Amino acid sequence: MEATKPHIALLASPGMGHLIPVLELAKRLVSHQSFKVTVFVVATDHASIVSSQLLQSPASPDGDDLLEIVLLPLIDVSDIIGPGVSFIQQIEATMLRSVPFFRTEISKMESRPTALVVDWFGTDVLEVADEFNMLKFIFITSNAWFFAFALYTPEIDRKEIDEHAKNQKPLKIPGCRPLNFEDTTEFLLMDPNDPTYQRHIGVIIKMSLTDGILVNTWDELEPTSLKALRDARKVPIYPIGPLIRPIEKSVLRSEIIDWLDKQPEESVIYVSFGSGGTLSAQEVIELAWGLELSQQRFLWVVRPPTEKDAAGAFLTLTNGCDCNPDYLPDGFLARTHDRGLVVPMWAPQVEVLSHPSIGGFLTHCGWNSTIESITNGVPMIAWPLYAEQKMNACLLTEDIGASIRATPMESNGMVTRGDIRSMVRKILVDHEGRNIRARIKELKNSAAKALAEGGSSYNVLFQFAEICIQHLS
Ligand code: UDP
Repeated sequence: MEATKPHIALLASPGMGHLIPVLELAKRLVSHQSFKVTVFVVATDHASIVSSQLLQSPASPDGDDLLEIVLLPLIDVSDIIGPGVSFIQQIEATMLRSVPFFRTEISKMESRPTALVVDWFGTDVLEVADEFNMLKFIFITSNAWFFAFALYTPEIDRKEIDEHAKNQKPLKIPGCRPLNFEDTTEFLLMDPNDPTYQRHIGVIIKMSLTDGILVNTWDELEPTSLKALRDARKVPIYPIGPLIRPIEKSVLRSEIIDWLDKQPEESVIYVSFGSGGTLSAQEVIELAWGLELSQQRFLWVVRPPTEKDAAGAFLTLTNGCDCNPDYLPDGFLARTHDRGLVVPMWAPQVEVLSHPSIGGFLTHCGWNSTIESITNGVPMIAWPLYAEQKMNACLLTEDIGASIRATPMESNGMVTRGDIRSMVRKILVDHEGRNIRARIKELKNSAAKALAEGGSSYNVLFQFAEICIQHLS
């Protein structure tokens, strides 16, 4: 008789950038290990998850019965939303309030999970794993360099942080590329007595006390940071990526694919700022002009511009996003309609990036977007907006050689139309971009190799599985 297999519980925090990789990890555990997996989804809005159809794709042709998805009850955080409450704080509050619901679900389960895997925002829920004798893992849906930096933060000398924050000195990260001041995270600039800072340090310490960290990267992409993490010996590290969503054949959005089908090979720049990223009104205008002046083909997922208010919250400047948005330069759509497609809000990104006519990606450098681009061999223009995206942009441009970077002018913090024009030309056609175009093809191959039988990420998943099997016995 076959021995009982581990049952893994995964918990996804709110946001597509968290849900997508968690679901892919679940499917990988089912298809690779035939483990039973239950994904618990925490959300503040069920409608957008249901309409995204993300929860419908099967794990594998015969793995349906091994994968279960549980939507936890909607969590209401409207009472804390207000000026000065960041999006991150809302996610944290949501996760904290989800703990009792998660506990109830686990206590009802006949087949008690062997291990709990949570993402960055799920550390409050780990107490439930302790109560039910489950192994505890964190799934970092970002890269190893960012995680190495995070893991190091509780022990950085205050003087070093002051040198970094006040004198703009690069911050050393043991064994890794240092962090330039231009790419620093808001967290490092905070008062160490601020409760948000204290909470962040507490989260990192909790992570270092788990049974391991799964990272959505692979050995060949980040050898130096992964070595540094392993050498630090704080917590076992499992690089299991790249986990990306498979191509979805979207009927609803086939207008985009029909248009791409008509364009020459590698001729189109795809422009998108992730699941929620927005630009200011002036940035939108510069971007439009830059695309127009480049004289290249483009596919742009456009959103209404926003501005930050005094408290740092984003305000939408216009309502909705119709097919003739008034925030684009006058006559832009008419002048570019023969070589550009502007789509409101959302595109089936993996399908777009895998299309042969895509030759470049102007991206905000969210980690999912980044690895989707790499695995499809698409070179990038890095235009980071917030969170750890500046670190990702630095990694891509200076370390990995997969992108060029949009650099805002010092005087007004703007990326200009002239810059956009020359970056688009460089990535798509100019001789100068040839090394990046060649490098991205190598990286695409290394990603495929890592996941294939015998590859580094393939083998690492066995190591993770082995720990779970041992705990079961
Ligand atoms: N995405 C998409 N269509 C869009 C925008 C985003 O399918 O128009 C998907 C994208 O493929 C990626 C995720 O949403 O898987 C965004 O995650 P990422 O980490 O890149 O950025 P975030 O949205 O978390 O900032």
